[in-house]
Amino acid sequence: MKAAVMRGAKEIRTETVPDPVLEPHGVIIKVKACGICGSDLHVYKRDEQGTIFGHEFSGDVVAVGAQVKGITPGMRVTAVGFKPCGKCFWCARGKGHRCSNMALLGYQFPGAMAEYVHIPFAAIGRTVFPLPDELTYEEAASVEPLSISYFSVNRAQPKPDESVAVLGLGVIGLYAVQVLKSFGVARILAGGRRDARLRAATECGADEVIDAAVQDAAAAVMDATGEMGVNTVVECAGVQATFDQAVTMARGGGKIMLVGIFEQPLTWDPMAVIAKNISLIGCLGGNFPAAIELLRSRKVSAKPLITHRFTLDQAAEAFRTQLQDPDAIKVMFTMD
Ligand SMILES: [Zn+2]
Ligand SMILES: [Zn+2]
Repeated sequence: MKAAVMRGAKEIRTETVPDPVLEPHGVIIKVKACGICGSDLHVYKRDEQGTIFGHEFSGDVVAVGAQVKGITPGMRVTAVGFKPCGKCFWCARGKGHRCSNMALLGYQFPGAMAEYVHIPFAAIGRTVFPLPDELTYEEAASVEPLSISYFSVNRAQPKPDESVAVLGLGVIGLYAVQVLKSFGVARILAGGRRDARLRAATECGADEVIDAAVQDAAAAVMDATGEMGVNTVVECAGVQATFDQAVTMARGGGKIMLVGIFEQPLTWDPMAVIAKNISLIGCLGGNFPAAIELLRSRKVSAKPLITHRFTLDQAAEAFRTQLQDPDAIKVMFTMD
């Protein structure tokens, strides 16, 4: 089959690779759409060989392992892929889903930037999710990132009369804005860079959009809230500057949801957090059923986020676009 394969730093080639082999607990899916994720870009910059990315995808089930129940060929699905290590504390106790050393789809084993993808542990409603008719394949390939935004916002339990700031307007931040809107949050402030993303934030429902390239986001939020600050900050950028801004703009008793992936450790002053009784809350998780329902009910739209589409044959260009094009938000592979 055809697949997009890493061949060194910033080098992706479309190659012919062996077809996936069906395992007893697995399913094989013919891929219809697959997004490039920010996490893929971190690896894309490194000198790696052989990785086939792709964990945000959808498609049609074409083969089902002998031990799998409730999944049939022809089902339209999206899925999560992981392989337990089989050796750790949890695996030794038969709890592979808690494995502390899991191999992940699209990193440690081949992902969905290919004609076919193998999901090793296929359990309906747990790792494989059937799609409602209303969802297109592109929307279904957006379920994974949206599920992360939903998980993180839901963890904050924002109330309608609160004000919330989202810092970092990549895909996770932009979906967070839409999820906050679906929670009925009265005032959503969004801080980020790049014109396309700032425009998308408005389209996603942000009440105030701050261009962090030209103004200090913390000062802008304080100004907009009469120096009160916001009840909750959803930090999706993962850098020192936005963390510091989050501490400044959180009001007394407020929460900071840490969602962004930090490439570097932080230096921070605990006194600023203690003095305002701020809760720092780590967020790592997703909720696929909730994300599917948000898209099905049209409370969330993938449209403002999907900016570019490519075929598998254009894989090199697709990755260059996601990394370099200032107008790129989500770059998507579409297959027929
Ligand atoms: Zn992702
Ligand atoms: Zn394990």
